[in-house]
Amino acid sequence: MTRQTYALFNFSHLRANYQQAKALADGLAYAVVKANAYGHGMLECAKALADADGFAVSCVDEAVQLRAAGVRQPVLVLQGAYSATEWQLAAQHQLEMVLHHSSQLDTWAQAKLGTAVSVFLKINSGMNRVGFTLDEVDEVLAKLQHQPLLSLKCVMTHFATADDAQSAAFEQQLSYMASRSWPAPFCLSNSAALYRVRTAAGKPLRDAISRPGIILYGASPLEEKSATELSLKPVMTLCSEVISLHGMHQGERIGYAGTWQAKRETRVAVVAIGYGDGYPRQAPNGTPVLIDGVECPLIGRVSMDMITVDVTDHPQVHIGSKVELWGEQLLAERVAQHCHTISYELFCRVTSRVQRVIKKH
Ligand SMILES: *Cc1c(COP(=O)(O)O)cnc(C)c1O
Repeated sequence: MTRQTYALFNFSHLRANYQQAKALADGLAYAVVKANAYGHGMLECAKALADADGFAVSCVDEAVQLRAAGVRQPVLVLQGAYSATEWQLAAQHQLEMVLHHSSQLDTWAQAKLGTAVSVFLKINSGMNRVGFTLDEVDEVLAKLQHQPLLSLKCVMTHFATADDAQSAAFEQQLSYMASRSWPAPFCLSNSAALYRVRTAAGKPLRDAISRPGIILYGASPLEEKSATELSLKPVMTLCSEVISLHGMHQGERIGYAGTWQAKRETRVAVVAIGYGDGYPRQAPNGTPVLIDGVECPLIGRVSMDMITVDVTDHPQVHIGSKVELWGEQLLAERVAQHCHTISYELFCRVTSRVQRVIKKH
């Protein structure tokens, strides 16, 4: 590799973050590695988390990739199966399957499986995306009871607002789950919920299995606390270098559409990264960029292959200066805030042009 732009991955941080998740969890913790482990490399992350209780992915294709790579722990498919073929793969690879819609029971019947599959029954407790409501669930539970080849392992739900301490919707979702008895233990918490008090009418709701995702990668799931405050350690550091420097006179404009105008004599550093690498094009003027350890403001539009940064106050910056776009020293969630998005999306958007480097210890 010769290009100066790369993503550095520190998997000892991944392991430390998983241990933190385990300490917060009531029971087992399945590491959520969907979407290529939030852009961190699904197979490498699974390998680094060899001691994880299990893994969760979005779709059957991701789960089959884990099995093909030799992963032996439980693998939960968060969206379950959408065809008879997917149910067959689930049986063949012993995947654990979310059941969130009755149409999935129809495709299961079509698959005519000879072996049992474990299912997580998903309840819509208020997020209104997928899952059965309490009105619908008795019928499904009755079907499962008469069907030994579908073995109910957990009752599951997903929280819409666990990241926001001010929201009452989180407690409402907990009450909804606690308002009846269930024939299987719970699988409730995402990362944010692990930091919340999980009770309904004063009684704790215990997770047999929780599903931490973003905290494994070292970013905060909470609006009011940073990754540093939660002692989470960033796994991905997105790096580049200064490739050019020049001066601009007061009144001159920079980049496409000239969205930034120099108010003074300005020294500009050009960095070899752009939206072609997954750096967000919507990053506005003032988004922090770390150059040789100092935060400098982004100026002008993000291009496909370059960004421009105001380094007027930092004369030590030179061609070849090291740049961190986000990572161990500049938290992704801070960059995300400037871009009106979340760290999850920044991580997932890093493109295949970016070289991946595994940090050695
Ligand atoms: C992605 C996902 C998670 C993990 O969420 P984080 O906020 O990253 O912890 C948990 N459960 C379900 C159903 C998910 O889709």
